[in-house]
Amino acid sequence: MTEAIINRQNLLEYVAEGVVVTDDDTTRILYANRAAVRMLGLKRDTLSRIRLIDLVHPEDKVRVKEYYEELKKKRELVTVRRIRRNGRYRTIERDARVLPDRNIVSIIRDITDRRKSEELRNTFFSMASHELKNPITSISLYTELAATNLAKKGDHALVAEALHKISQEVKRLGNIVGDMLDLSKIQAGKFKMRWNYFDLNAAVREAVEHIVQTTDRHINIHVQGYAAKPVLGDVDKIYQVLINLLSNAVKYSPGSPSVWVRVRNENARVVVSVTDFGIGIEKKDQAKIFRKYFRAREAENTGAMGLGIGLYLCREIIKEHGGMLTVKSERRKGATFSFSLPATAVSSKRS
Ligand code: ADP
Repeated sequence: MTEAIINRQNLLEYVAEGVVVTDDDTTRILYANRAAVRMLGLKRDTLSRIRLIDLVHPEDKVRVKEYYEELKKKRELVTVRRIRRNGRYRTIERDARVLPDRNIVSIIRDITDRRKSEELRNTFFSMASHELKNPITSISLYTELAATNLAKKGDHALVAEALHKISQEVKRLGNIVGDMLDLSKIQAGKFKMRWNYFDLNAAVREAVEHIVQTTDRHINIHVQGYAAKPVLGDVDKIYQVLINLLSNAVKYSPGSPSVWVRVRNENARVVVSVTDFGIGIEKKDQAKIFRKYFRAREAENTGAMGLGIGLYLCREIIKEHGGMLTVKSERRKGATFSFSLPATAVSSKRS
């Protein structure tokens, strides 16, 4: 019998989820398996001296009494609590059952990261709906304006302007939807490159034209240098990188009149950089801006809309090309984003 119990306890030691047994009245910890000890960040002998409730966030403690009442009634209950671990609070999901001897056995799971990514996803979706709604509202307004003017045989210049606006907004929508689709493809592991040699100079030219056409304010985008040889890569994806870097350069340099694109040839690679003289990026944020959904406070303060996925996608695309996307920046002075592409060597990834 004893041996059977020991074996059963041993088994629990190898379970990946945390298992805790507490007593009914004082929430003293009677048993915690290895995973639970790790999750709570305490030594086993410390755990036997403390009460589970001592680790609970003060705000969550308020509901603890009601929780035990409900648990006693229902005999099983799932709750989420913030539990202190090494000076920080982690979000723990607790699936508790009352045992015949009135002690409580709980499976505990650290869901902090899951919660965080759910929150990020929710923010992303609400921002994405916002980002999509703005161009749609503009398109509908300008379509109406054009239609009314045409019907009344009114001002043709006005109709032309409205159509230009509509085309700008449709392009903007196309960029946003394209980025969102790519993000989901990356997450599903279905992000594929189509390899070819292509004319980088033409891609730069087209991207610059696109940005100038879709930007409301006057901006000079200067192009300096050129790629001496065709480069190897996916032309559509590189175009997308250029669009993202250029639109960021414009978006985050309000009031500044110019952006520079520089292209230079280095050994078997072509290096492209995009420089602006805008808000810049604080040192502490420079690595973070390539993360999914990250937006610097400075950028949010400008009121510029964004989803925080452009640079993440750009970095993934450049990585697929065997390169690196890097940034150099000083706060309030501007930023330079650079990447390089193979010019002549045939990549092993070529299909
Ligand atoms: P978005 O622009 O949609 O927020 P990105 O992934 O393109 O998303 O960029 C992430 C963040 O990096 C931006 O929110 C901003 O904080 C910062 N950033 C990107 N480009 C620039 C730039 N040229 N100047 C200053 N900050 C930039």
